[in-house]
Amino acid sequence: MPEGQFKEGIVGGRLPAEQYADNFSDLHPPLDHHEALVESDRCYFCYDAPCMNACPTSIDIPLFIRQISTGNPIGSAKTIFDQNILGGMCARVCPTETLCEEVCVREVAEGKPVQIGRLQRYATDVAMAENKQFYPRPEPTGKTVAVVGAGPAGLAAAHRLARHGHDVTILEARPKAGGLNEYGIAAYKSVDNFAQAEVDYVAAIGGIDIQNGKALGRDYQLSDLIRNYDAVFLGMGLGGVNALRADGEDAAGVTNAVEFIAELRQAGDLASLPVGRRVVVIGGGMTAIDAAVQSKLLGAEEVTICYRRGQEHMNASGFEQDLAAANGVTIRHWLQPKRVIADAGQVSGIELEYTALKGDKLAGTGETLTLVADQVFKAIGQSFVPAALNGSEASIELEAGRIKVDREGRTSLAKVWAGGDCIFGGDDLTVSAVAQGRDTAESIHRSLTQG
Ligand SMILES: Cc1cc2nc3c(=O)[nH]c(=O)nc-3n(C[C@H](O)[C@H](O)[C@H](O)COP(=O)(O)OP(=O)(O)OC[C@H]3O[C@@H](n4cnc5c(N)ncnc54)[C@H](O)[C@@H]3O)c2cc1C
Ligand code: SF4
Repeated sequence: MPEGQFKEGIVGGRLPAEQYADNFSDLHPPLDHHEALVESDRCYFCYDAPCMNACPTSIDIPLFIRQISTGNPIGSAKTIFDQNILGGMCARVCPTETLCEEVCVREVAEGKPVQIGRLQRYATDVAMAENKQFYPRPEPTGKTVAVVGAGPAGLAAAHRLARHGHDVTILEARPKAGGLNEYGIAAYKSVDNFAQAEVDYVAAIGGIDIQNGKALGRDYQLSDLIRNYDAVFLGMGLGGVNALRADGEDAAGVTNAVEFIAELRQAGDLASLPVGRRVVVIGGGMTAIDAAVQSKLLGAEEVTICYRRGQEHMNASGFEQDLAAANGVTIRHWLQPKRVIADAGQVSGIELEYTALKGDKLAGTGETLTLVADQVFKAIGQSFVPAALNGSEASIELEAGRIKVDREGRTSLAKVWAGGDCIFGGDDLTVSAVAQGRDTAESIHRSLTQG
């Protein structure tokens, strides 16, 4: 065992240099041509296929799988991209075990679904490697749309608008486009800089101008966009993170899990990335699992996820929980943070309180447990930060802290639509953001071309 592993505190270089690449390699390696043919042959090509209904972007799954089985991966990719232009990323990050593959007839009958995600990746990889573009840009309509945020929702909306001939300007606050595809998704789900390759593929349709480093509320106001463009799409995601509401949570070493993951995704050299020896992650969703697993892969000796409810209540799917366990992460349930213990301002442990359901309500039992920790990650949910919307003539209506939209994605302000994580009622998945971006773009198109 390398000595770095047992160093106290938050340090880099816990593992031998050569181990990082291995640890962060592709979670689901791509199928080769032969494997894709064999896997596609397992599909029954069901009439009224349940997988299609389970996919938020309603990809014609039996058709794209049949196209693979008949040796036509390019046609298959077109079937996928017709519905979901980010089909390449979705193939890598969709929790298929709770979406399309959960309802596959083979899963129901044999417990072994057709590997829809991996087949989707196979077909889209073939087309993207050839930069095969399926949607020639029509005559420009002369209409302009501003898209705020270059995440999955913004990119999907921009592509669909460009397909209709509108000119789109994407204004993105961060230095790179891609949203959480670039800054949030676990490194082992999106290797080889795929997020940027996909941004380039999407923008290659033409008519999409991506401007990075342009933040709404800082560099321009919503009222400027409403004045200067025919329509505005807001796809700003969730910029805030919920507090632990535990005493002492300002101690050094208590970190926002999303920031840690963003840093990891942008790190040129993973060995230089500091991580604790004993890490505690508070949360029960995908972010908690990703922060925990990646801490372990960076060489943390002990990683424990603490979640305030039971296993059956966790937002992370069974597959994600198994992934954590397979990587040596311990998941403990019915525990909520009470107090961060610090030594000279640096976290040295965390006191947690056991919880129980009293009727429908979760309550602390009074019994406590203390875990030694030199790093604590907050992963208890993100929140929408509405401050960027200030400065418009009329304020946008919110619902439960997120942007309120109607069934078409229209906000309470004329000419302004929204989609993705920043709207109320979403399920915080990449594929759902893509579906909302696409469908809202159709609503914008209808409004721009009617009368
Ligand atoms: C750590 C983590 C892991 C995840 N893993 C998965 C997964 O494995 N599978 C899955 O399906 N989903 C996953 N998700 C959820 C998924 O990433 C999101 O649901 C999806 O990215 C939402 O897309 P979006 O376009 O709405 O927002 P985002 O991807 O957040 O993009 C919003 C964009 O808007 C920009 N922006 C924000 N404010 C401004 C402003 N004022 N001006 C200009 N630009 C602005 C941001 O910089 C960002 O680029 C994960 C989320 C997190 C946090
Ligand atoms: S986009 Fe996601 S849910 Fe839809 S078919 Fe592909 S992998 Fe399944």
